[in-house]
Amino acid sequence: ESEKGGKVRSRIMVFVRLRPMNKKEKEGGSRCCVRIANCRDLYLTEFPNENDYLRLNRLRGRHFTFDAAFPDSASQQLVYSTSTSELVEGVLQGRNGSVFCYGATGAGKTYTMLGTVENPGVMVLAIKDVFRKIRQKSCDGNHVVHLSYLEVYNETVRDLLSPGRPLVLREDKQGIVAAGLTQYRAYSTDEVMALLQQGNQNRTTEPTRANETSSRSHAILQVVVEYRVRDAAMNIINRVGKLSLIDLAGSERALATDQRTLRSLEGANINRSLLALSSCINALVEGKKHVPYRNSKLTQLLKDSLGGTCNTVMIANISPSNLSFGETQNTVHWADRAKEI
Ligand code: ADP
Ligand code: MG
Repeated sequence: ESEKGGKVRSRIMVFVRLRPMNKKEKEGGSRCCVRIANCRDLYLTEFPNENDYLRLNRLRGRHFTFDAAFPDSASQQLVYSTSTSELVEGVLQGRNGSVFCYGATGAGKTYTMLGTVENPGVMVLAIKDVFRKIRQKSCDGNHVVHLSYLEVYNETVRDLLSPGRPLVLREDKQGIVAAGLTQYRAYSTDEVMALLQQGNQNRTTEPTRANETSSRSHAILQVVVEYRVRDAAMNIINRVGKLSLIDLAGSERALATDQRTLRSLEGANINRSLLALSSCINALVEGKKHVPYRNSKLTQLLKDSLGGTCNTVMIANISPSNLSFGETQNTVHWADRAKEI
């Protein structure tokens, strides 16, 4: 937490992760327009169209600094331990936290969050760490872990662990809840990877591109840890900490919809959730009293996981290829702004 203008604000940590150049980009003669140094400095270079070497020599990369910048060689474990392990510690002390992956489609959000069987991502590593830390803390079965995994697509909320009809959001004593959402009780990490992969398969796909997750789909994994402690008067009290891990929709549409918004309801809705998220984050960091959570399903669902004493982590995913320069630049600028908050 940081002190700004006399008010205590929740801290937002901002990270950038560069993915490796893929085969298609290499074969297409792509050049790398991103350089990462000192684990936190990022340089962006816009190449001129032709091979104008005279000009190239004079090109200076624009420079940005983040809490950490991960080069394309960074392991899943490094990304997890740098960005998220501290939040897991907080969750085990009853604090909420959230981690967002942000960036254009194909930039590596799902790889970072979910990963593959060989290289599990933040979601799996976080759950693993939760169990490891619980084992260290207690051997009396005091802690209970529940998982829920849901999707916001076109302002509709769906249960990824039990696909079916859309879920309705309701406000009750605990806040805003998705009625009927599966709370999967997890006992170990082993079962979790398959469960999450399956859940990811249940994400909405574009009708025109079977099997390919829609770039408009937001996926939210919530890991809820409940446990009992005794207060000073030796009364037993229940504590709950929640970690939300969010694989956001592709940011390219949100940045490009200005003119096209009216033509596409879906585009408008994606825009709505991403825009609502950034206005909530802006309001929080500026210490505003009113935070517009109600503006989208995504922000309603995350109301208790943003602001207050919650820790928030942003991971901006980017591609190295000069062909994606525009999107990379947008993502980096957005991340840079979030950092200042
Ligand atoms: P997004 O979810 O942002 O659309 P993906 O996570 O699906 O993007 O990544 C696109 C492709 O790049 C996938 O095939 C993924 O496995 C690969 N990829 C992304 N990031 C990495 C990385 N850090 N290391 C290796 N492969 C990666
Ligand atoms: Mg994805």
